[in-house]
This record gives sequence, C-alpha cells and structure tokens, in this order.
Amino acid sequence: MKYLKLAQLYEELSSTTKRLEKIDILSKFLKQLSEKDKDVLYLLLGEIYPEYDERRIGISNQIAIKALSKATGIESKKIVAEWKAIGDLGKVAEKFTLHKKQSTLHSYCLETEKVLENLRKLPELEGKGTVGKKLGLITELLTSADPIEAKYLIRTLIGDLRMGVQESTIRESLAVAFFKKEDSSKVQLAIDKSNDVAIVFEICKKGKLKDLEKINLEVGKPIKAMLAQKAKDIEDAFRQLGKPLAIEYKYDGFRLLIHKKNNKVSLFTRRLENVTKQFPEVEQYIRDFIKGDSFILDSEAVGYDKKTKKYTDFQAISQRIRRKYNIGDLQKKLPVEVNIFDVLYYNGKSWLEEPFEKRRKLIEKIITKHPYKLIYSRFKKTSSKKEIEEFYKQALKNNQEGIMLKNLDAGYKPGRRVGHMLKLKPETNELDLVITGAEWGAGKRGGWLSSFILSCRKGKKFLEIGKVGTGILEKETEDNKITFENLTNILKPLIVKEKGKSVTIKPKIVVQVHYQDLQRSPNYESKWALRFPRITLLREDRGVFDIASLEEIEKDFKEQKRENWKFG
Ligand code: AMP
Repeated sequence: MKYLKLAQLYEELSSTTKRLEKIDILSKFLKQLSEKDKDVLYLLLGEIYPEYDERRIGISNQIAIKALSKATGIESKKIVAEWKAIGDLGKVAEKFTLHKKQSTLHSYCLETEKVLENLRKLPELEGKGTVGKKLGLITELLTSADPIEAKYLIRTLIGDLRMGVQESTIRESLAVAFFKKEDSSKVQLAIDKSNDVAIVFEICKKGKLKDLEKINLEVGKPIKAMLAQKAKDIEDAFRQLGKPLAIEYKYDGFRLLIHKKNNKVSLFTRRLENVTKQFPEVEQYIRDFIKGDSFILDSEAVGYDKKTKKYTDFQAISQRIRRKYNIGDLQKKLPVEVNIFDVLYYNGKSWLEEPFEKRRKLIEKIITKHPYKLIYSRFKKTSSKKEIEEFYKQALKNNQEGIMLKNLDAGYKPGRRVGHMLKLKPETNELDLVITGAEWGAGKRGGWLSSFILSCRKGKKFLEIGKVGTGILEKETEDNKITFENLTNILKPLIVKEKGKSVTIKPKIVVQVHYQDLQRSPNYESKWALRFPRITLLREDRGVFDIASLEEIEKDFKEQKRENWKFG
C-alpha cells in the first residue's frame, strides 16, 4: 500500500478533534484496507510491532533533525530554528520537503512495507556506529517522501503522531466497520487476549463476529499483567470499588506470570521476559502443588530469610532474575515463596471475563498451600473499614508493602492500569524511572559513568526529570550492588551518542529512585525536577513502559499537597 494514502488518512484524522468523526474516518479506511496490509494497524498506533513486543522505534529529536537535514540539504541549525518557531518537527519536515520537491524529482514512491522494513531495523541496532546506520535508514525514507509523508514519518519516528488515535479508537472503528458499534467489547476482548491489533483486524475483515471468540489466550505466549491504581485511603477504595470488596496483602517481590501446558511450565516477568530457567524450584512447585492440565496464573514471588523465615524486600532476591549460572547455589541462598493471586486461563478456557470472586474460588480449589514454597495470597472479603485497617497493619508488620483492594465482580484486563484493583501503601517519595543519559567521571571515577540522567514517561516519550550522582557506591556490598562500575557495565552497551563528557543512553534500565521533594523546573523536559534523588534499586523485572508517567507524577504531587494522608 502507498504510504501517501496512509499519510492522507493521518491528515484527515488530525483535522478533527471529535471522537465520533475519527471513528467514522477510520472505519471507512479499515473497510477497504486489504488483509495483506494488516501491519498498517501497528503504524496507526505509532508502533511497528504488536503491543506485547518491547521493540520500539525510539528515535531522539536530534537524530530526526540530522536525518531531515541530510534528506533536504538544509542545515540542522535552520531546522532547529524553524522547529522552535512552529513547535512541531513534523510540520518543519513538511515545509522543507516541499521546498526541496520543487527543485528535484524524487526517486520512487514510498510503500508502507518499505517504511515498516526500515523502521523495524532501528531497534535492532546497538553499540558503535549505530547513529550513522540509523541516519541512513531514516534518510532513505525521507528522501523518497512527499511533504505530508515526511511530516508523518518524522512524527512517527519521534513518537508523537498527534492524531488522537488510541487502541480504544481502533477497537471501536473495527466494530463499526465490520460489525455493530455495540460489539466493541467483543473486539476489545479479542485484543486483550491476543495483544495484537493486526490479528484482530484480520479476523474482523472476514466478517464473522463468532470468529473473534476463537481468539484465545495462548498458554506459553507471554501476556501483559493487569496493573493497579493508587487508592488515596480506605474511603476512596470503597468509593471506587463498592462494598464488599476484597483485600489482599501487597507482597514486596516481583510479578510472575505462570503458564503450564502439556506439563511444560513457563514463567514470565512483567516485562514479558522468560525466567523459567532461573527458577527451577518454582517450576517444580507448580507441577506438584497446582491441579490442572493447562493454566495461566498471576502471582508475586517473594524472598525470605532461610533462618528467620522473615520476608525480605525485592532487592534481596533481584539477583535471581538475572543469574543464568550457578542457579542451584543462589536458589538455596535466596529462596522465594510464590503467592498466587489470580487466574486468567484454566483447562482450555479463558477466565478473563469471570468475576474476581469466582476466580479466587478457583485458585483456592486447585492449589494446595505449601508455606515458603507456594501459597495463594492472604485474602479477605469485607465491608468494614476497621477490618481493612487491621489487615493493613498486619501486612506491614509482616514486612509486606501494604494491601491491594479489589472489586469482587470485575474481570481481568491484561496490560491495563485498572480502577478495579487498587494499592494502598504508606506514602514514600519513590518512583520507578529510566536512565537516559550520563556523564563520564573524572579523577577517582575516571573510566566510569558518574552522574546519571533520570526520565519519566509521557506516552511513548521519555522526559528528563532529574540527575543523580550521590548514593552510588564505589564498591559493592552484600546487599547493595549499585556501584559506578556496575552501572557503567550495564549502561555502556546502550550508549547511542557521545558529546564531550555527556552520553545519551537508550532507555532500557529501570531504577527505583527515592527523593526528598518534587519541584517545578524549567531546566528539564518534564518541567519537574526531583530534589535530592538517590538510586535505591535496579528494577530488572520492569520494562520502560512500567515507569512512572508524567500524569501520575503530577497527580501525586497535587494529592500530596491537598492532603497528606498517612495511615494511623
Ligand atoms: P506497583 O508496583 O506499586 O504498581 O504495585 C502493583 C504490583 O504489586 C503488582 O504489579 C504486583 O507485582 C504486586 N502485588 C503484590 N501483591 C499483589 C496482590 N495480592 N495482587 C496484585 N498485585 C500484587
């Protein structure tokens, strides 16, 4: 399919802010889109792969500017000046490509296949020479682009399509195009199960609503975990979840999604990484203590001290996720207990739509509890504020993070931060962020990266929010591995650009950061700055899309100001 046709669709979608009009435009487009062009659905979301795939385009504004300069022959300086004046790099690309087009004939017509081919090569590149190769791939596309194609190519590259199309818009447009508007929940369920809009489009295109039901969860293929929102306090939880509700301990470990089929067990982290090999004992617990031929379960694995049997925090067991050798030793030293809290699929049938209370009953039926090996989460159904307070106190006393509060009637929504599962924990100034830059150290720290730039997320973009250099050790200790040397080793292969002492780092390494305060700041892209941040943990179990979003940070800030709620 011609990329020009897609760019024209983008243009049409951008021309209205009305949701219903967007759905109308998009559904007409989808109706005439052929099955072989199904991957265009990823492009509509600004992506190149299905959602469960972590490969993202991830091009900085700087690289986009350079490529534009190469393709149009216009100096970077002039592009930057124009960008500052009109505030949209896409429009700058459109304008300068128009100038160029008037003097030259472009080489060939851009096809969406070619765009996808080049874009898909971008995340594969790492290490030395990366920038040059990326520039080559992008420039090749821009040189063949018409002005409006250039506009949307640039916007796609920098992750800012500005069309107001989300997964929900696609879901409703698919329903309108091929079935009825009311069927959009069925389309959504198919998207949830497959995590793949292109596959769902393909089935919709065949026109049989019943066929959507054939999309099932696939045991062994990682599925995104359902995420929680924050509750301000118990009253807030009652408001959002109704009465009675379910409460559970919020275990302080790492998320583990458990799949079993034909006696084959697979374990996935929340980043969808397969960690089965790292946890041979867990594999065995699953075979021994859970009844069923096939299932997908959701759980939290928590570390404990072998002697005292006291639960430890995530940091204590984080090594187990990484370690690929001498697993036996580590397994003895750092044992984990698996706490099952949900079921998504059981013996050939999806349980996503079943109410949580029913799912919980199934868990209790199929699991034989073995404390310090595998159990199901501590659970209580209650309408009493007092009982919740007691439960919360107990959880904290047991070294857990707090409690989870859940709606008893709600289904399981993969990958979504839902309002029917809430977390309540003591207020700490703590955020998960990603490292996007650093500086080479001098003197004692020569040869090591020292000061690190931290970023939060806005949609698919990463925005700087602080710099951290303190609290990092020169030498590692038994329970703190955050040293300059270790960070340098992890980050060095991810360097994408160097300028003097500063380096730009591909956003991949997620860290937990404690800070004293948050303040507004004109110096950072996020317009916020963390005061006195310290890196307290490497969160290897988390991906870049798990980090704090700008909206969450701003919401937290407002709430902290309004009422400083703390438990008893
Ligand atoms: P947070 O990481 O602060 O967003 O809190 C949500 C995380 O708490 C989930 O992703 C799980 O890893 C973890 N968790 C611990 N205990 C539970 C539980 N009983 N139910 C659901 N999630 C839990």
